[in-house]
Parts: sequence; C-alpha cells; structure tokens
Amino acid sequence: MPSPMSARESDSGTSIVASTPTKSWLGTWETSTDPAYCRDLEGCVLAANPVFVRKFGRPLETLLGSPLAALLHSDDAASVSATHAALSRPPHRATSEHRWLTPGGTRWFAWDEIALRDTTGQIVAVRASGRDITRQRLAEEQFHRLSSAIEQSPVAIVITDLDGWPQYVNPKFTAVSGRTLEDLLDQKIEVLRDGHPDAASYEKFWQTLRAGGEWRGEFATRRGEGGTVWESVKVSCLRNPHGEITNFLCLREDVTERKKLEHDLRQAHKMESLGTLAGGIAHDFNNLLAIINGYAEFCLQGGAEPAVLQKSLREIRTAAQRAGGLVKQILTFSRKTEVRFAPMDLNQLVQDLVKLLAETFPRTVTFNLELQPRLPALLADQNQLQQIILNLCVNARDAMPTGGVITLATSVHAGAPPIRNAAPDRSYACLRVGDTGTGMSPEVRARLFEPFFTTKQVNQGTGLGLAVVHGVVESHQGGIEVESTVGTGSVFSIYLPLANTAVPAAIASNSDFPSGGESLLIVDDEDSLRELLTEAFHRKGYKISTASNGHEAIDLISDESRHYDLVLLDLNLPNASGLQVMKVIRLCRPGTCVLVVSGHITPEIRADFQQIGQRDFMMKPYTLDEMGRRIRTLLDARAATRP
Ligand code: ADP
Ligand code: MG
Repeated sequence: MPSPMSARESDSGTSIVASTPTKSWLGTWETSTDPAYCRDLEGCVLAANPVFVRKFGRPLETLLGSPLAALLHSDDAASVSATHAALSRPPHRATSEHRWLTPGGTRWFAWDEIALRDTTGQIVAVRASGRDITRQRLAEEQFHRLSSAIEQSPVAIVITDLDGWPQYVNPKFTAVSGRTLEDLLDQKIEVLRDGHPDAASYEKFWQTLRAGGEWRGEFATRRGEGGTVWESVKVSCLRNPHGEITNFLCLREDVTERKKLEHDLRQAHKMESLGTLAGGIAHDFNNLLAIINGYAEFCLQGGAEPAVLQKSLREIRTAAQRAGGLVKQILTFSRKTEVRFAPMDLNQLVQDLVKLLAETFPRTVTFNLELQPRLPALLADQNQLQQIILNLCVNARDAMPTGGVITLATSVHAGAPPIRNAAPDRSYACLRVGDTGTGMSPEVRARLFEPFFTTKQVNQGTGLGLAVVHGVVESHQGGIEVESTVGTGSVFSIYLPLANTAVPAAIASNSDFPSGGESLLIVDDEDSLRELLTEAFHRKGYKISTASNGHEAIDLISDESRHYDLVLLDLNLPNASGLQVMKVIRLCRPGTCVLVVSGHITPEIRADFQQIGQRDFMMKPYTLDEMGRRIRTLLDARAATRP
C-alpha cells in the first residue's frame, strides 16, 4: 500500500511536515487499533487507515476525496472545522467529539487532531485519530438526566455517608429547610434526626437502616409562620455493584395538602352520616305523627262515643311511646329519605318563627326584622328551613347570656354568592342571622360545623346544631358564611337558591274535607293508620275495602267481581312491594286511579313508578284533611275526563 500522503504530495508537489515527527505517526497509522484519517482544509478525506475504513464500512476509493460531512451526523457536520483556530496555534493539536454514521448506527467518536503544516508553517491538512466513546457518552447523558431529575424533584432529597453526614442535598431540600449542604456540614447538623420525636425513635431508625432495611414515617413539623407541615419520610440504603451499603438516601415529601384533604373528607363523611341518621329518624317519626295527628283530629271532630275516644287516646299513647323508643335506636338508623322541596315564602316563615321564639326566649333578647319586601320564593323544604333558623336563633340566644338583639334579615343576593359550588345561572336569597353576643375565637370558628363540637356545658349543648344547619344548607345546594368578632357578635349568612315559580296560595287546612260515594281500596300495613283512614272516609260516605299486605292487595285487585275507583297505595308493604302491586293494577285495572303514599320516596323509586305512568304521590305525614281533598281532586279530575 502506498504511503497515504504520497498521492497528495505528487499531485500538488508540496511537501508536508507534521507537527510530530513524520516517522512516528506513519508508523502507527497502519497498525493502529484506532481509526485515523487525514483531511484537507475543505474537510475532504485525503487518507484513511484500515480501521477507519472498516468502521465506516466504505471502500477506501470512495472515501478518498469525498467530504467528511457525508459520514457525520447532520447536526455535527458543520463543527468539524471548529478546531482549525486551535490547530493554527502551537502546539497545533486539538480534540473534538462528534457523532458519526457507521453501519452499526450513530456512534460518538473523540478525535485527537494534529495540524500538518508546509515548510512555511502554514496548515495544509489535519490528521486525526479517534476513539469510539459512545458508551461513555450515553452514560454521561444518563447521569445528566438523572441528576437534573433529582435537582428538579419536588421531593427533598439528602444523600449521607454511613455515619449520617450529608454528602448531597437537592435544591428542594434547601428550599424547604433553608439549609444548604455547607450549612449542614459547618453546623454539624444530624440531618436524619430531623423530625424524630425522641431519642428512642431515632435509635430504632438507625437499627433498621444498619440492618439494611428501609425506614418510613410521617412527621409533623412546625415551620415558622406557615403552621404545621406534614412530611412523609423514607430512608433507604444505596449499595455499590458488590452489594455493599455505601450511602443512605433520605426522601422527604410535603404531604400537608393531602393530610388536609383527608381531614376534610372525614369531615364530609361525618356530616353525611349525620344527614343519613336524621333522614331515617324523620321517616319513622312521620308515620307516628300521622297516627297521632289523625286520632287527635278524630277526637276533636266531636260527637264520638266515649269508647271511641278512649280507643283513640290509647292509640295516641302507643304511638308516642313508640316515638320514645325510636330515639333510643337513633344510632342504628341509616336510611335516606326524600326531602320535600317546594316553593316557599321565606319572609313568612321567619315572621311565624319569630312570633314563637319571642314568647319563649328571655325578655332581655329582642328581635329585629329586616325583611326585603316581595322576596321571591325559595325552593326549599319548609321543615328543614325552620330547623336551621331555629338552630341559629338558639345559638344567638346562648351567645347573649345578658341579653341583646337578634337580627334576621332577608334579601336577594346580587350576583354570585360567596359560596363554594355557586351555580352561575341561578339567583340566590340571603338569610342573615346576627347577634350582639360574645362572638367566637378563630379556634371555635374553625370547628363550628363539626358534629358534636360544643363549647357549652354538658346538658346545654349537643354540638349538633350547626352540623344540622350545614347538612340542610348543603342539601339545598346553598352555602354558609360566618363573620364573628370576639366581644361584638356573629353573623351567619345562609345563601339558598331561589325557585323559578311563585308560592302556591295556601290551601285552607282547617275545614272538613268533602264527601264522596266512590269505592276506595286502602292498602297499608300500619294497622292503626288503616283503621283511621277507613273510619274517616267511611264517615264521608265512601265505600272502603282494605288490604294490609301486598298479596292481599293483589288478591283484591285481581278479583273481577270487585270494583275500585281509587287505590290508596302505601309503598312499603310486607310480602309484595308497592311497586309490584302497582304493576298488577296497571295490568288488571288500567283505568283505576292510584295515589301512592309514603314517608320515604327516593328519586329512584319515584322514577320506577313514573315509568309505568304513575304521577300521583302523597308524602307522609299528611293530615286527614289533606288526604281527603287530594282524593276528591283526583276522583273529580278523572270523572271530568270520562265521556
Ligand atoms: P351547640 O349549640 O350545641 O354547642 P352548635 O353546633 O349549634 O352546638 O354550635 C357549636 C358551637 O359554636 C357552640 O358551642 C358555640 O361555641 C359556637 N357558636 C355557635 N353559634 C354561635 C354564636 N352565634 N355566637 C358565638 N358562638 C357560637
Ligand atoms: Mg346550638
């Protein structure tokens, strides 16, 4: 093989000298295990050794004279000549690193370059010999990726030696603790001790680590004005390739936000369980109240035999005793009941309640009403709303042991109310209940709505008042705002969505209900209630049949020899549900009027009934009068549609 330089030499007739003695580099050229080449100042190949030829998988003939750029990664093509400035200065050597395209893929090469100069000292060519550094480059890139991930980590990271002295802390650690690695070393701070409540805990931690284990824990640390910070801490061992422990790695993560959310969630659960509880109790009480009210009305109508009066009073007493028993079972209830939302007049409700409260509260407490005239109707459950006004007024009274003024104000809130979940397309009414009492401290303010939170003495407070208020307001899709100053008083602002319709004219409720001659089937498993209805409707001229369970009702309905104008159907029946009975009625007697009665209709049940065309429902408790009028209305409406 001719000397690689000979071609050029003979072409140009210029003699070239290398910076290093010519012999030595020529000598290593052929036998070198590293690739080597020469290029002219335009970057074209003048010569290449066998290793270079092999590496780049091209015959020497095609390599000679062709631009090196063709062999380089496109991003690096321009940088080949970047070393020329360095090469023109003594000692005329330079190093460079580029990506090259080889048959085995893109590889990194590090080149050692030497200038070849003519006799006048001008550079005329460059000789380079290289090393494949791909592995090293990848390892470096990997290292940079990992270290920048650690530098940017939202978790505070500390690496210590085997005695626990820090060797590295990431920027997050410094941001959270305010300490750099130098601070820790200068002040000889045992960084792994931070957060351990006592020496025993720290000792146990070291035992775990020395045994090669991993330690996890959660610490609450007070951090200046920021309050308590919760940290989740994990410390583990770092090992070398031989499996020996070389360092400890400590990760500290701020979990304050998560802790707070967990706390809020528990809070919400408590509120929810309370609502469920109240729902269940309300349902059973409704039934008992229906019995008590019914028999009481019965007695009041006059003309009843002493024996009938006796029986009625006994029923009332039994129902009242059962109500007492219910209270004992309070904790075992867990059913939900539908709340009755209807358009209602908030001003009227406030006025009625205040009349009652003014009589029962101490004379030193006076009321001040600021009601916006012609307040639009609210969509609310009247009983529940009554309850929240009552609870707020009772609290106001308790906060003013020496007397003061309770102000009740109503208004339409202009714009979006300052509450969570405010619906942008709805208008809200605001009910404010203010007092001139003791006010409350921020600590009390923070726990106000917690069930069972009270600052009152045993037997004076249950701590449930505001929890109930909270539950009711939530179920009405409203919100609460509290302002309070110690020594001046408190204002509770309740925001509730307005209804889109007006309040229906109050139905006269104390007149006797109209009579009728139609035949009714009363289906109810509550014996006293069934008897009461039978007696009341019988007196009004109706023909009555009764059934006390689902099967009995189905028997009667499917008996073709009988006829019913209207069926009064209770939902919860033994052995066949109200819905099943309803389906039989739709099949056998499709034209029959049905009124479904319950104290407990969930939206799902209502939907089931509506699917088979049932639209008429009546909620317990009802008065006999309400029931009588409702039945009359239904029967009259049906008669009007008949030919
Ligand atoms: P209870 O009245 O049974 O204590 P609540 O849930 O109604 O339970 O109220 C909880 C606590 O909130 C009360 O014990 C009291 O410390 C505080 N609080 C409620 N309303 C007021 C108010 N208007 N003024 C001052 N403190 C109040
Ligand atoms: Mg209270």
